[in-house]
Formats: sequence, structure tokens, C-alpha cells
Amino acid sequence: MAYKKRYDGRGFKETRETKATANILKRADGSGEFSFGNSKAIVSVYGPKRVYPAFLEDADKALLRCYYDMISFSVKERKRPGPSRRSSEISLVSAGALKPALLLNEFPHTVIDVFIMITQADASTRVAGINAATIALANAGIPMTDLPAAVSIGKMGDTLVVDVNKEEEDYEEDGKHAATDIAICVLPRTKKISLLQLDGKITPEELKKVINMAFRAAPEINKKQIEALKNVEEL
Ligand code: ADP
Repeated sequence: MAYKKRYDGRGFKETRETKATANILKRADGSGEFSFGNSKAIVSVYGPKRVYPAFLEDADKALLRCYYDMISFSVKERKRPGPSRRSSEISLVSAGALKPALLLNEFPHTVIDVFIMITQADASTRVAGINAATIALANAGIPMTDLPAAVSIGKMGDTLVVDVNKEEEDYEEDGKHAATDIAICVLPRTKKISLLQLDGKITPEELKKVINMAFRAAPEINKKQIEALKNVEEL
């Protein structure tokens, strides 16, 4: 049985409604919010600042540290607070997705801390977090060579869809979990991929389509990020 119509009626290449805002937190050096439908991320950036302990500092460039977490009230049942294997992994890959777009060598001996908080989770939170982090880093004045745009692509049975929600992630065919979830971050200007995480089965041909779908979704995401950065309100 193929996945012929999306549960929420969207087109296969359509994301959920996206919203973006920059400069939402007064105390941070930069901040931003990004949502795909009911998956919402807020991000605060602190830095560039001195590194403690000092032995961690790099004489050539700034360190970029990401901390991803889902707030306890972000899901239906209260999520146990605190770090987990999942959050450590997402923190690491988020930093990896953002780094190639940042001119970290302009800030040697410093650190830039990026706190990614998921306030509401309905799948694809890591990509929402990366999009919010892009806004927050730009809002903090960190120079960039590109504007990372992240999206998830799902394979539901044989059908590829853009921006997977939780219902789709849990998709079953013949009583078996049949969804493959791919998180991608693209750098549209340099046409590079800074994150590609694949959980499930896919053919090389499908993977090419997945990458094209991510690049096609990027302009709309970048548009929202840029609009947010242009319409900053003083706090
Ligand atoms: P992503 O959010 O980037 O898609 P995952 O595939 O690990 O990352 O998670 C998919 C979704 O599963 C999350 O967005 C969230 O809706 C749900 N989820 C993840 N962890 C938990 C948890 N501890 N409790 C409840 N739901 C969770």
C-alpha cells in the first residue's frame, strides 16, 4: 500500500507552515525562533567570548558549541529533563551542520555557545533547531559565507515527502514501521551539504531525489530567515 495522500493534506514537496523571528531574547548576544508547524525551536547565542577552561581554546578560530534539548513540556508525556544520548548526538551534528557556513577564523581564542531549545516537538526538531540557530548566529553578528537551511525528507513506503511530522514518522505499512527519515542541511550558495542523517532504507536513486528536494526547499526557508533578520524589533 503506497502513501498516496499526506495525513495533513499537504503536497508531497510542501513543508508545514514555517515561521521565523530574530532577536527574541534580550540577554543573549543573538537569538532566533524557527518553526515547522508544531515543531518549534528557540535559540540563544552567547559569544564570541573567552574560553574556560583556557586549554580548550584554538589559536586559529572560535570554538562552536551547540547544546540541543527538548523542554519537558515539548511532548505529550513530560519528557525527563536533562541531557541524553539523543540530545548529545543532535548537539554534535547541529554544530557540524552550522560550522562550514561560519567565519570562525575571525575570532581566534574564543567560543560561541549556541543553546537550542525545542519548546514543542512534532518531529523534525533538529532541522528546526538548525534553522533557528542560523538566525540566532546571524543576529549575534557572526559573519557567514552561506545561510544553512535544514529540512527533513521522509520516505513513506515508496513516496518521498518534505518535512515529516510525527504522524508520518510513525507511519506503518502492513503493521511494520515503514518510514525512513532523513535530516538534511544544505548550504545553498556554495551548493554543499553540511548534514545528512539517514535512518532507514533508501536506494541511491532515491537519495539523489532526496538531496534535490532539500535544495528545492531551501530558498523558502532562507527567505523566512532573511525576513526575520530584516525585521528585528528592539527589546
Ligand atoms: P527529530 O525531532 O530531529 O526528528 P528524532 O527522529 O529523534 O529527531 O525524534 C522525532 C520525534 O520524536 C521528535 O520530534 C519528538 O516529536 C519525538 N520524540 C523524541 N524524543 C522524545 C521523547 N523523549 N519523548 C517524547 N517524544 C519524543
